[in-house]
Amino acid sequence: MPAERWQDVLGPQALDLALLALFIALALISFFRKSVRLKYASLVFAVGYMGFFKSHLISVVDIFGLIDRNLPIFKYNISYYVLGVFVLASTVLWGRLYCGRVCAFGALTQLMDAVLPSRLRVDVPRNLDRNAAWIKYGLLAFVIVYFVVTHDLLVYRFVEPFWMFGLFGTTAMWIGLGALLLATVFVRNLYCRFLCPVGALLGVISNVTVFEIKRWSECKTCKICEKACEWGAIQGPKIVKTECVRCDDCERLYADQKKCPHWIILLRARPSAPKSAPAAPSVQA
Ligand code: SF4
Ligand code: SF4
Ligand code: SF4
Repeated sequence: MPAERWQDVLGPQALDLALLALFIALALISFFRKSVRLKYASLVFAVGYMGFFKSHLISVVDIFGLIDRNLPIFKYNISYYVLGVFVLASTVLWGRLYCGRVCAFGALTQLMDAVLPSRLRVDVPRNLDRNAAWIKYGLLAFVIVYFVVTHDLLVYRFVEPFWMFGLFGTTAMWIGLGALLLATVFVRNLYCRFLCPVGALLGVISNVTVFEIKRWSECKTCKICEKACEWGAIQGPKIVKTECVRCDDCERLYADQKKCPHWIILLRARPSAPKSAPAAPSVQA
């Protein structure tokens, strides 16, 4: 039998790899430019391509594969590894960027949040929010122990809804998903904030994030960003790295010379300063 040539292996994967590279580039550009429009373009791409077209999301099944050293064969699944390396590297560098704009389910709930009327939202009391965030770590520990003991992969059906993008599932699973999405109408990003084991794992890795979100000294008393954060990831001056998904909302405020007290105080203290105020980090609308 003739040896398999690389062009024969890569050929069928070329379009998929090109689209994944395009998507990752879009996600990174939107992140670095802090552009709202590009971020929503990434979210739509995530739902359409990574979700419904490819059904390629990081799942507890990948964690099981790592534990069992039973991962897909590299040469036939290059995009699987490209996404895996991107998720790991981006989390170490910037935090849960994957959750903020690459994961199809997180993107879906963020898009829901953008189109649903804000009056439907229920603000979860801060204490409850902080305590409920621990549930996902408990679920992560549970599924890992359960898998190690039973080797039952199918536990994923009970702890994550990502199967929905493959449009399969039992009636009970669809009913459960419907209830989850209905609850998400009222509580923003409910699954991501409180229940997702993958988000919990990425949160643990985020503890070693290299490039953290900057803060002004005024952030010690100012609550504007804390109130604006839809992920409960700001506590006083502190960014809770495990919960932050690098959505950019607070970073846009950080650079906003009309809203951020740091700039307002600075500009008031310099009344004779020219109208072009001190350079702020570049932020795109
Ligand atoms: S928390 Fe889970 S569902 Fe939400 S964006 Fe992250 S990986 Fe996806
Ligand atoms: S608005 Fe400015 S000062 Fe207030 S918390 Fe945000 S970055 Fe800090
Ligand atoms: S608002 Fe800031 S702290 Fe909150 S999730 Fe977005 S980037 Fe992270």
